[in-house]
Order: sequence, then structure tokens, then C-alpha cells
Amino acid sequence: MQDPNPEFMREAIRLSIEKMQAGHGGPFGAVIVKDGQVIARGFNQVTSTNDPTCHAEVDAIRKACAVLGTFQLDGCDLYTSCEPCPMCLGAIYWARPRRVFYGNTKQDAAAIGFDDQFIYEELDKPLDQRRLPMTEFLRSEAQAGFQAWQQHEGKTEY
Ligand SMILES: [Zn+2]
Repeated sequence: MQDPNPEFMREAIRLSIEKMQAGHGGPFGAVIVKDGQVIARGFNQVTSTNDPTCHAEVDAIRKACAVLGTFQLDGCDLYTSCEPCPMCLGAIYWARPRRVFYGNTKQDAAAIGFDDQFIYEELDKPLDQRRLPMTEFLRSEAQAGFQAWQQHEGKTEY
């Protein structure tokens, strides 16, 4: 597998600066590369779109999947200007690129006020000890959806 290309990371870094300065959101950029080409560019748009999920990596994943016409990023590399937060890391696992390269560390992000450590800590706690109340409710009725999935003839598994 080829070495990471500094030009792709520099593009992610450029996006992190330019899009932040243009008022889109926080200083985070990402690009997705396939076969040596950038196929998608993402950047943080949380505050400009009122979308708390619009982190650079999620934005790039959505765009790359639209370009490829698939829900999997097979053979793709993700370059992000900062180590992914837990939400993006989850999205990255679901999208299944082959590799991730990051610039700033999560400690660097915490030092400028973007601290996601509390989410990692929450994930390690039992449900009843988390700050976000989360309670099982109507499970027996909810299972109808799963039973319908198991019986659905036309499903696309992933
Ligand atoms: Zn994120």
C-alpha cells in the first residue's frame, strides 16, 4: 500500500483554515482519496447549518458516498486535519475506508476548546451512570421492525 501523500493532508488542513475563516464552522477539514484522486472534500459546518453532526469527516463521507454511489468507501483513504471524535470514528467504521490519517491530535483539539474526552468516558460507563438518561422503552413493540427486516425479501445487507 502506498505511503500517505502529504498533499492530501495539506488539502484537509487548507480546508480547515479557509472554511473556518469563511464562517462555516470550526477549524476542521477532511478529504477522501481513491486511486490517487481526491473524490470528496469535507469541512465543519456545525454552526452555519445548525447541524451538530456536520463534522468534516461526516461531511466528506456523505459526499464521497454520493460520488461513488455506494454506502461503503472500499479502497479509500481518509485524511483529516484532526483525530476523529467518537461520532466521526463511528461513522468512519460504518463507511469502512481502508485507512485514516490525521493531523492534529485530540489533545490538540482539547487545548483549543474542542474536548471530546467526556464522550469516550461516557461510553465506558454503564447506562445508568451516564449524564444522558437513556432507558429501554417499548422493546417488545420495537422488535416488530427487526422481525420485518428478517422477513424482508428485498433487503440490502451491510
Ligand atoms: Zn467529529
